[in-house]
Amino acid sequence: MILFFSSENLIYLSGYTGGEGILGIAEDEVWLFVDFRYFEIAQEEVRDCEVRLLKKGLKEVREFLRERNLKKIGLEAKAITLFEFEQLHDPAFNFIPLSKELEALRAKKTPEEIRLIKKAVEVAENAFKEVLKLVKPGMREIEIAIELEYQMKKMGSESLPFQVIVLSGERTSLPHGVPSEKVIKEGELLIFDFGARIGGYASDETRTVFLGEVETELKRIYEIVREAQQNAIKVIKAGLSFKEVDKAARKLIEDAGYGNFFGHGTGHGVGLAVHEYPSLSPDSEGELQEGMVVTVEPGIYLPQKGGVRIEDLVLVKEDGVEILTKLDHHIRI
Ligand code: ZN
Ligand code: ZN
Repeated sequence: MILFFSSENLIYLSGYTGGEGILGIAEDEVWLFVDFRYFEIAQEEVRDCEVRLLKKGLKEVREFLRERNLKKIGLEAKAITLFEFEQLHDPAFNFIPLSKELEALRAKKTPEEIRLIKKAVEVAENAFKEVLKLVKPGMREIEIAIELEYQMKKMGSESLPFQVIVLSGERTSLPHGVPSEKVIKEGELLIFDFGARIGGYASDETRTVFLGEVETELKRIYEIVREAQQNAIKVIKAGLSFKEVDKAARKLIEDAGYGNFFGHGTGHGVGLAVHEYPSLSPDSEGELQEGMVVTVEPGIYLPQKGGVRIEDLVLVKEDGVEILTKLDHHIRI
């Protein structure tokens, strides 16, 4: 018996999109536990699964497990809180935290999943192109970010898989900075990191845009990041280890003397969650498989000066990749 708690695995394994609930999968039976708010939608959506109404929360799940005499229970460890665990806890059970065992569950995408991700990319990019027409010096980062969120939703994005990042000038050195009231100026870099969601599936991409003429070192790091990114995309194919992908990008950045300014991994899987298995970083174990969808996003971030990141989404094939991101790399306003 395994209990799942994450909204992504609930959708993936049962078809239920309500987000809140607990999915129990035993050898030959599946139960979805939800409260009153989600009971009707759950009954409509699930396949091959008994929906049970919870009136008193997790304690009822505990009673249910006792009645069924289920003793050995795997838990989706990354998705259960300590509070929930305490409510489930009972000396009769042997709980087994599962994390590594479950991480690759959604890694290989089906043609239908790939179709939805491509659609999400299309929506995000069409929205981005609309917003680019409006961007000019004097606007605030937050204004541009809101416009991009609005356009993505207007064009069909169900929700946003993550808050849009729009950063300018020296703030571009914050890899996951939050859009601020800062006004954008001629001669600055602008980083856009954004994605849409279609049919539950996310997209994720980043463009670093030149606002007019930017200074020499920033232009230089832009070219290094681009070369590193292209180098990683070139080597990607089924069978290559996650580390090797990271190395293909990192080596170029290190050789150029900027190794200390690239502090995150080269990429990550994208699907129902915007960040999911695998992680393409120096210490991750495993290898690429056909059907994985991953980002390739090296960056260089110079504190108080500025940063560059270029992120494309790619589908891993037997002999290479299909690049799902369609936007040009060099964008100048
Ligand atoms: Zn991103
Ligand atoms: Zn990303």
